[in-house]
Amino acid sequence: MTVVGVVGAGIMGAGVAQNLGMAGHSVLLVDISEDALSAAIERVELNCRMSRMLGGPSVDHEEVLARITTSTDLTVLADAEVVIENITEDEEMKRGLYPRLDEVCPPGCVLVANTSAIPITRIGSWTNRPEQVAGVHFMNPVPMKPAVEFIPGYHTSQESLQIVRDLLESMGKKPIDVKDACGFISNRLSHVFMNEAAYLVYEGVADADTVDEVFRSCFGHPMGPLQTADLIGVDTILQSIEVLYEHFADSKYRPCPLLKQMVDAGRLGQKSGEGFYRHGPDSSRPARLTAVRTGTDI
Ligand code: NAD
Repeated sequence: MTVVGVVGAGIMGAGVAQNLGMAGHSVLLVDISEDALSAAIERVELNCRMSRMLGGPSVDHEEVLARITTSTDLTVLADAEVVIENITEDEEMKRGLYPRLDEVCPPGCVLVANTSAIPITRIGSWTNRPEQVAGVHFMNPVPMKPAVEFIPGYHTSQESLQIVRDLLESMGKKPIDVKDACGFISNRLSHVFMNEAAYLVYEGVADADTVDEVFRSCFGHPMGPLQTADLIGVDTILQSIEVLYEHFADSKYRPCPLLKQMVDAGRLGQKSGEGFYRHGPDSSRPARLTAVRTGTDI
């Protein structure tokens, strides 16, 4: 059993905490928001109860919840052996957090960044322990996905990588080794097509349902790009494509104005109940595929 700090209790933090709890680890789940912590615990309970129904293992939700302690105080991480950071994909926010983690975490603690796009070497440079900073790009929903992208920073030591690799394997994850490049492999590709799919809607070429239907029926993908954007969070997609745009200074990553407008309007996808689609109260179920009015009507 490892004591693992999980910082950020949103979509990913809740999933990581659940997966760690299912693997028998002790979890210190930290967020700046009490509401986010309560919502995360509710989500973990619901997802554990529904695990079997969704094709996963049967999970004792009480055992998992008993392994998770929540707090808004970062100093609880003084006991952590590994910390997995899952806060908002906002470089300034992450840059503010890492020096604090450096202060409160014990010297041997390895810091793991779960980021969609920010280079791990850059994140390591915000700490005094870059050799103990590694990147893991978890997939959503975390407990259901068998693999992760596993990214060393320029200075990450072999010892730190082994600690993280062992932890991932205990969680049932296959680490796929990926070099440290902005967006890694998955998001360098997927965010371009999600952004371009948003442009199709923005330009009135097709509605969200039609764009997704082409991916499902013609390409055989289980979900279309805009359903996927709703699952990930429209805000997270926008923040990640902005990181790619800034990093490569290349117009192929120019963020679609519709994504900005949707974020301004609070249409963040499943987490806010409305994105490219309307979602019912049980957001763990697939969305009812009724496209809402998007594009210039928003
Ligand atoms: P989210 O918006 O659902 O949750 C972010 C949480 O971080 C919020 O609860 C917020 O209160 C908390 N937070 C913000 N600043 C904090 C701080 N200083 N200390 C503690 N908590 C803080 O975001 P998410 O979708 O869970 O994404 C988290 C990270 O995981 C991002 O970097 C994102 O790019 C990455 N990621 C997301 C997905 C996805 O599908 N959503 C997939 C892989 C990776």
